[in-house]
Amino acid sequence: MLKWHATETATVTNYFAVDPASGLTDVVAAERLRSYGANRPSARPGRGAFLRFVAQLVQPLILVLIAAGMVTLFLREWVDSAVIFGVVLVNALVGFIQEGKAEAALAALVRAVAAEATVVRDGARRRLDAIHLVPGDVVVLAAGDKVPADLRLFSGKELRHAEAALTGESLPVAKHVEPLPAETPLADRHNMAYAGTFVVGGQGTGVVVATGDATETGRISALIASAPDLTTPLTRQLDVFARRLLVAILILAVLTFGVGVLRGESALDMFMAAVALAVGAIPEGLPAAMTVTLAIGVARMARRRAIIRKLSAVETLGSTTVICSDKTGTLTENAMTVREIRAGGEHFTLSGDGYAPVGGIEREGLPATVAGALKETLVASVLCNDARLAQVENQWTVIGDPTEAALLVAARKANLDEAILNSLFPRRDELPFDSARQVMATLHEVDGVCVVYVKGAVEKLLGACAGRLDRQGREVPLAGEDVQAAALRMAEAGLRVLALARSELSPTQVLEHEHLGSGLVFLGLIGMIDPPRSSAAAAVRACHAAGIRVKMITGDHPGTAVAIARQLGIADAGTCALTGQELARLDDDGLRQAAATVNVFARVEPEQKLRLVKALQADGEVVAMTGDGVNDAPALKQADIGVAMGLGGTEVAKEAAEMVLTDDNFATIEAAVEEGRGIYDNLVKFIVWTIPTNAGEGLVILAAILAGSTLPITPLQILWINMTTAILLGMMLAFEPAEQGIMQRPPRAPSAPILDRPLLLRILLVSILLLSGAFGLFELALQRGQSLAEARTIAANVFVLVETLYLFNCRSLSRPFWSIGAFANPWVWAGSGAMLLLQLAFTYVPVMNSIFQTAPIGLSDWATIGAFAVFCAAAVELEKRWRLASACRPPALSAGR
Ligand code: ATP
Repeated sequence: MLKWHATETATVTNYFAVDPASGLTDVVAAERLRSYGANRPSARPGRGAFLRFVAQLVQPLILVLIAAGMVTLFLREWVDSAVIFGVVLVNALVGFIQEGKAEAALAALVRAVAAEATVVRDGARRRLDAIHLVPGDVVVLAAGDKVPADLRLFSGKELRHAEAALTGESLPVAKHVEPLPAETPLADRHNMAYAGTFVVGGQGTGVVVATGDATETGRISALIASAPDLTTPLTRQLDVFARRLLVAILILAVLTFGVGVLRGESALDMFMAAVALAVGAIPEGLPAAMTVTLAIGVARMARRRAIIRKLSAVETLGSTTVICSDKTGTLTENAMTVREIRAGGEHFTLSGDGYAPVGGIEREGLPATVAGALKETLVASVLCNDARLAQVENQWTVIGDPTEAALLVAARKANLDEAILNSLFPRRDELPFDSARQVMATLHEVDGVCVVYVKGAVEKLLGACAGRLDRQGREVPLAGEDVQAAALRMAEAGLRVLALARSELSPTQVLEHEHLGSGLVFLGLIGMIDPPRSSAAAAVRACHAAGIRVKMITGDHPGTAVAIARQLGIADAGTCALTGQELARLDDDGLRQAAATVNVFARVEPEQKLRLVKALQADGEVVAMTGDGVNDAPALKQADIGVAMGLGGTEVAKEAAEMVLTDDNFATIEAAVEEGRGIYDNLVKFIVWTIPTNAGEGLVILAAILAGSTLPITPLQILWINMTTAILLGMMLAFEPAEQGIMQRPPRAPSAPILDRPLLLRILLVSILLLSGAFGLFELALQRGQSLAEARTIAANVFVLVETLYLFNCRSLSRPFWSIGAFANPWVWAGSGAMLLLQLAFTYVPVMNSIFQTAPIGLSDWATIGAFAVFCAAAVELEKRWRLASACRPPALSAGR
């Protein structure tokens, strides 16, 4: 095997039988794909299934159950011990399966944002899913790309890679193409680009030398994407709660045992009572239910085009207070049409819409003559351009940057064709557009002279221009203020403005950024419309109603930014934009103030976004920030929710983000916030539903022991209730759609406790109702002369029936359950139906009777239990209504005059 880094590039391309200019043919690539396989690391056995299963067992709450099971085994209570272990197994299995599913779903979503690569095949550049790459493919790299396979570089300009993932080197490394000594260590092989690393600057080309498992990354198993993290702030908070609860339960259980034994009860009975208390009070189903709810939420968000990369983002979305959004493509359509050109002191307008090159250029209502400054402006805009237009099924589409495509369309309206211009004036060199510098330049040979064409932001070019072209194409002195005033007029009309200029270089010079700093000749201004997205204004309104502020942070001109912000309701009449330059002059305090009050930030450099996020966070805001470029990554990482663009974003940005929008649309962020709030609600609903059962069961046992009476419910019956109701009833809350009015509430404070006082009181109310119902009806049955088994069956059914109706109460935490659409969540009905069937089996099927020590009960018993359950549900609804009424009461009245 050749050492690629030590080999001349020509030898490498010969080895792979590829012409670096035209790449492989599709036929050869297809053959190689068959023999080398897809370019992805084969799945490695991650954490073994067995270990993952065991991890389910070593949760503190489950360990208590296992201990209880062991003791019952020791005591030869075979049935009890079998059921306890059965529950432990079922619980672990449910957790194992659900967690596996959630992990797989998350990983699939992350993969769904497929990494693409630009490849030269059959002489043309095209975007390809990176898994189709084969050795010998010629790959084109640009800033922001994730390197799709191991490449031997054969050309590069200012190419810099971030290789921390592979080498641990935190600073970007500069790349070159010269061969290196064979013994050069991996981290110093600067003529190679390794799969999984990122291009953070410049551009280059390389030939694929290894794909899939053969890549350096593929060989290091540690780099294979580890399982996604399923913990979130809420699950961590619950973990802490579970640990504390466990200690409390253990103390209570020991006390129960001690008190009972001291009273002279048998140690065995008291041990079983302590076990009953422990298993009853432990909310076993909680962790699995949390994961399921979050996973279902993530799937829902994906359907609304928001891909969650980190589960914790789901919750954070619910407390987002500020959304900082890009303008172009997120708030606007990114569908550009050139409307105006200013060149040679004249003003031109363009007719026609979209990317169809139909229409013309007019001056004062008459067809314009394309000559002098106008022609040179259009020629520059075509040559300094990387986009292409294509007609697919009679539809004109764009390959590349829409801003550049619009320039091609404008030129075609003046009968200037890009293919002809490019062949007449071939490109010799280029400086690609970068959003920090806001310019792009290309070098061409025109009649034996090296001409540089530059396009970019007006402020960036104007200072470097000494003269301008007039209408005849002669160079004359430049009045910068006139150009600036014209640019401002265009921007204030909402147009995106580009300036064009040119200069000359001597044939020996290589194009560098310093050549753009002076001596340019100004050619003209081009103004294009990019209409706001129709859905964006509504989404901005929805955010405002939800107490979320929306800020526009754009690289565009302040005039354009404010005009679009006004159309969208982000800014109102009188609003001014704060520019990147002004921002740079502010100290941290000033910035904090500005960040709090200003809604439009223009000409912002990506690096400044990081300062803005920090300033907002310092004010206690929970910030969602969008980004697409390679320089946006630090801000995306710093934001509470980094949002990357799935269509137009770079791989670097996607990797840094918590959420990826598959349609790049601002409205999708708003939808995700709404879902996030709904999911959090569902988590709280589950907790509010489940805790009274555990508390009620614990209290019943405690009360029985204190009263010195027989246990109204046995440990096995408790386990039965907990397992079946958690799976068939509680989990169904995960399917609850977001409640109406969810976006009329203010964002949840991240520091707010999961359960507020009213909810804690409701939990207490239901727990006490359960205690009195189960205990009361149990005692009543005994007094009536019913058997112990019958009385216990009644108590168990009280729990199940009350919980079933209470499930409907919990569908909304604040509003009557019938007002949120009785059938909006059919799962609740299906689960309740299945639960009742199981309960009939529990009561009437002989095997169940002997396992759980239950006995058939009569219709009048069911009627009493049913009536009690209805009473409880009504009590909860009354409590909700009372709370709603007191919340709506005018302050003067509630102050109790
Ligand atoms: P946003 O940050 O909201 O997406 P934006 O797309 O306008 O805004 P940039 O892409 O950074 O931000 O563009 C900033 C400025 O750079 C534009 O106003 C324009 O003048 C100039 N510009 C944009 N695209 C190009 C390009 N392809 N070539 C040269 N200059 C460009």
